[in-house]
Amino acid sequence: MTQEELFKVLVAHCKEYGFIFPSSEIYDGLAAVYDYGQMGVQLKNNIKEYWWEAMTRLNENIVGIDSCIFMHPKTWVASGHVAAFNDPLIDNKDSKKRYRADVLIEDYLAKIEEKMDKEVAKGRKRFGEAFNEEQFRATNPNVLREKAKYDEVHARYKAAEDTNNLAEYKQIILDCGIVDPISGTANWTDVRQFNLMFSTQGSNTGNQDDVLYLRPETAQGIFVEYLNVQKTGRMKIPFGIAQIGKAFRNEIVARQFIFRMKEFEQMEMEFFVKPGTEMEWFAAWKENRMKWHVALGMGAENYRFHDHEKLAHYANAATDIEFNFPFGFKELEGIHSRTDFDLGNHQRLSGKKIQFFDPETGESYVPYCVETSIGVDRMTLAVLSHAYTVEQLENGESRVVMKIPAPLAPIKVAVMPLVKKDGLPEIAQKVVDELKYDFSYQYDEKDSIGKRYRRQDAIGTPFCVTIDHDTVNDGCVTVRDRDTMTQERVKIEDLRDMIAKKVSLANLLRKL
Ligand code: ATP
Repeated sequence: MTQEELFKVLVAHCKEYGFIFPSSEIYDGLAAVYDYGQMGVQLKNNIKEYWWEAMTRLNENIVGIDSCIFMHPKTWVASGHVAAFNDPLIDNKDSKKRYRADVLIEDYLAKIEEKMDKEVAKGRKRFGEAFNEEQFRATNPNVLREKAKYDEVHARYKAAEDTNNLAEYKQIILDCGIVDPISGTANWTDVRQFNLMFSTQGSNTGNQDDVLYLRPETAQGIFVEYLNVQKTGRMKIPFGIAQIGKAFRNEIVARQFIFRMKEFEQMEMEFFVKPGTEMEWFAAWKENRMKWHVALGMGAENYRFHDHEKLAHYANAATDIEFNFPFGFKELEGIHSRTDFDLGNHQRLSGKKIQFFDPETGESYVPYCVETSIGVDRMTLAVLSHAYTVEQLENGESRVVMKIPAPLAPIKVAVMPLVKKDGLPEIAQKVVDELKYDFSYQYDEKDSIGKRYRRQDAIGTPFCVTIDHDTVNDGCVTVRDRDTMTQERVKIEDLRDMIAKKVSLANLLRKL
């Protein structure tokens, strides 16, 4: 199966087992908007809890807030979103579909990279042990030809990006022969800038000036509450404010599922520091955030930093944590050193003094800020895509198992009486009563045990507990492990500790 096909299977699996549904599906759905079902919401809540506790409980100097989606319109002037939160768009006149011009070019460049990688893989196969990748890349004519093409297009693209040259974007698309995947033609319109913010009317008067935006990021809610939190919490620099909440962007998307949505959730933390110390904090937060990801056990090799070549005008350092999604390494989280851009602009536009008085030096200053920003939905997709596994079993059958990190699994334990009689359901109910205060659970007494195991595998339940006839006499149950499929007899009174060891969030947090 190609990665693309695998992705389609994953999307279908997410729907079939109640993780994620297309929004308003009975009306044929709404592009780039998705709903979380009964499993998805628990997974998402667990991810949010992991982040929230890691930020606000493990760091004494980080506190959380919950600010509103609507904010004073001047907020978005100060933040630069009104003037510059744009994407370069291009339409295909035949398919009538709209694309991001920069994404079309980046996809084209990624294809060239793929071709080079394929040549390298061929070389590795041919030369075996003696293969020297560096030398091969420097000398193989096919690789060199592709590399020259890549470098030329990449240089033109970066120059166009730096100078915001929309005509050049179009020229690159035409020169590279990039066609619309639907119509197959290069019948393109000119490239135009398109602001990504959704807006709505603030009052009932219909007055044009009374526009309210749906926040495109949660961060600005933190900046405008900086003074309130600092004063009421008597916070001393350095300190952070964390927030989880919805954000909205009118994204032009093509088949990316919950990777890029119009309505999504962000987990953002703004860490306020003394000017001049921001690079140390930037480095510290890079390390801290990578550790948070790797602790989940989804493979350190599936993450990498991607430092930004071109910095936004307000940033003096920026990096992405990229994850190995089914469609390649893509941004999962952004870490930015944002200087005093946001607080400085809010101070200017509001006329309120937004500064920190340092009692030790007697100085007042506008703090600098290091931001960590991750999408809950993208994180959910990272977990789901990594978890989806098809395994061949010894009996010739296969099983689909979601190897979701146990502390994040929507259901932690399934309780199953072997049969619906002989007093076994009653004991099972007692087991449920013993476990339900600590763990999310499902009770299942339908179908064969094998079928019930498959159902739990498909939603990623780490443990299945079976009550059988021996339980009546010895008070032990069979605990089956999702990943190894091994079974173990455990006393009912020991169940809670055994399950907690693997699924508790506290144990995961202890690794940080
Ligand atoms: P991209 O380059 O992929 O559009 P971005 O650089 O615009 O992302 P940021 O503004 O840095 O993203 O937002 C921080 C995080 O919010 C991203 O790393 C991502 O996880 C998440 N995010 C941003 N836009 C979306 C979206 N449309 N849908 C889902 N998650 C998003």
